[in-house]
Amino acid sequence: MSITIPSGLVHNGTGIPDLCSRHGEPASLRKPVKFWSKPPTWAYFLILLGALPFLIVTLVMRKEVQAQAWPFCPQCEKLHRNRLIIGISLIALLPLSFVLANAFNEVGPLLILLAFVAAFAGIILQSRGTYRVLPWGFVSQDGSAVDFPKAHPNFVAAAQAAYAHAAQQYAAWQASQHAGYDAGHRPAG
Ligand SMILES: [Zn+2]
Repeated sequence: MSITIPSGLVHNGTGIPDLCSRHGEPASLRKPVKFWSKPPTWAYFLILLGALPFLIVTLVMRKEVQAQAWPFCPQCEKLHRNRLIIGISLIALLPLSFVLANAFNEVGPLLILLAFVAAFAGIILQSRGTYRVLPWGFVSQDGSAVDFPKAHPNFVAAAQAAYAHAAQQYAAWQASQHAGYDAGHRPAG
């Protein structure tokens, strides 16, 4: 399920349920997280010119929303730990492959090539395990909201209920302000 939450609410945590947005389970940990926007589609054409122009445009155009205390569940903590350990182990194969390539001359280049592929996979895995990436939230291009395209249904339901409750309270508050205003300005008869 997907849900879009205004950036202000993501930042201060109002209306964010005490549930993990990925697994829908009760939060066991709250961490500050920075959500980023995806690069605009046209930026991907810059990859044809090289990685650097793409990186520069991505960094310049990037919108950021800082959540002060985003909820994470025990499953997230496990996912984070496993991806970090496996990712670093894969990256660590690279220096090892240089040592082994020396020992086994004939297959040396192949070993190094495989180790590069493994290290690349390790970097991706490790980055997908960071607390910034685990909730799978992306800031909109104008920075006004954070979109969670794969949010857990429990999280979506709880967030919508909290949002509706806040909107109701605001409406009631507004109505009471108006009632007070009308009462105060009613001509004495
Ligand atoms: Zn979780």
